[in-house]
Amino acid sequence: MKHSFSILLLVILGVTCVFLTSCKKKSAGSEGGSASGATPSGIQKKLVIGTCAEFPPFEFFGADGSVQGIDIDLMSAIAKKLNMELVIENMDFNQIIGKVVDGTLDVGAAGITVNEERMKIVDFSTGYYSGCQVMIVPNHSEIKGKDDLRGKVVSVQSGATGESLAKELQLDIVSFPRASDAVLAVLHNNADVAIMDDEPAKRFQTKNSIRIKILPEKLTVEVYGLAVNKKNARLLDDLNRCLDEMTKNGELDAIFGKWMHN
Ligand code: GLN
Repeated sequence: MKHSFSILLLVILGVTCVFLTSCKKKSAGSEGGSASGATPSGIQKKLVIGTCAEFPPFEFFGADGSVQGIDIDLMSAIAKKLNMELVIENMDFNQIIGKVVDGTLDVGAAGITVNEERMKIVDFSTGYYSGCQVMIVPNHSEIKGKDDLRGKVVSVQSGATGESLAKELQLDIVSFPRASDAVLAVLHNNADVAIMDDEPAKRFQTKNSIRIKILPEKLTVEVYGLAVNKKNARLLDDLNRCLDEMTKNGELDAIFGKWMHN
């Protein structure tokens, strides 16, 4: 009797294991991000986004240690509309596009500038913001604009458009994984000027306004988009549909309104 009870218990455990494994497989199989919505079993599919949380106000670590900002609110709203579970992966900026290409990430959401070079390897959603590259210099710098950059040491973030621009201009470059480190290089006299996107530049400058300033000249105008794997046309459509809806109903403005004044 005792023996047959043990067998019954083993059978029940076995069936439970098989059931749990098949559930797990279903959710893992959904991580390609090729479609939106919940699975037939009711489990929400994951929307895995990659970002670099050193780029305020688009993404940064809040006081509670969570990743916050415009891109995060934007992607949370989109995930909700698509009935998907948002998963945020933090990494160096120069890893994001590669991970969208190899399928580790569904979306790159990191204030990513849409440009031709990137468009060869990933697709971009419609643009959701227009920014520009600016120069941060010490308050008493002799650099007044782009024409004074020759022969100076320029700090940039690796893989960012600021770096491409500095290379194009054939300047003497020092690259850092994070935009904040490029600013530190100027603060520590390891670089004469940092080139980066204007909104993060403003945030970094405000914290150190006694020592550094942003020059009024804008070096480029750039549009930010969400990066998606070229094979994931369905997700791209979903993102564009959500962005369109959010533009029309004011949700996007509300997100920008919340963070641009913080
Ligand atoms: N907009 C810049 C780019 O796409 C910088 C983005 C970033 O550092 N997060 O290269």
